[in-house]
Amino acid sequence: MRIARFSIDGNVAFGAVEGESPPGSTDGLVLDIIKGIPFADFELSGTKVPLSKVRLLPPVLPNKVVAFGRNYADHAKEMGGEVPDAPFAFFKPSTSVIGSGDEIAYPSFTEELHHEAELAVVIGRMCREVPRERVKDVILGYTCANDVTARDVQRREKQWARAKGFDSSCPLGPWVETDLDPSDLTIQCTVNGQQRQLGRTSEMIHSIEDLIVNITEAMTLLPGDVILTGTPAGVGPLSAGDEVAVTIEGIGTLTNKVVKRG
Ligand code: MG
Repeated sequence: MRIARFSIDGNVAFGAVEGESPPGSTDGLVLDIIKGIPFADFELSGTKVPLSKVRLLPPVLPNKVVAFGRNYADHAKEMGGEVPDAPFAFFKPSTSVIGSGDEIAYPSFTEELHHEAELAVVIGRMCREVPRERVKDVILGYTCANDVTARDVQRREKQWARAKGFDSSCPLGPWVETDLDPSDLTIQCTVNGQQRQLGRTSEMIHSIEDLIVNITEAMTLLPGDVILTGTPAGVGPLSAGDEVAVTIEGIGTLTNKVVKRG
């Protein structure tokens, strides 16, 4: 099931996305409004609205986004660094999250804004110290993410709070796909329709199981928390006016425009 979060007539709701649409379009898609929330048992109301008539919101409002770095060997190489032996994580704050169709605001303090297409894992239940064999039980589903990064600031500053945590640096969407085997999916990033990144999730160094075991050794994850799983090679610059799109096989396309903050 594809679960979207959206606003309609000033209210926020979740809905199951039904129907098929041509790539890059929402034509033909309908939302069946969910009674309740997707983190507990819920029912479909049977009340349907065309997706084109609502504003999509970020599919979840995470308490925290835990992002893993250098989890694809070819990206670690292009960054001029070693492949880490163990996973390493950093945070993106809840205020960095935007949805598909929202604008990425080019920060004033960088001259080198980069895209990073990533598979995002959405946590479905509160959990800590999750054993490998239970990881699938704590996952609600998967969505597309862009770990937007001020690369020059990342090089200059030891901690990445500003480089990777500024407002609008974490586009997520367009929805959460709950029925998906994430182990070998095509992941792609285009800028203004030109391909920049192309990889497969099977190229991850540390698996989704590894990442969730690693982070839950240290902290509790809450329903709606998001894990970013790293980016394949091909990261590159964004400019004001660009349209950046992250597409993951079996999920859909997350599209955002870059604007210069006035
Ligand atoms: Mg990243």
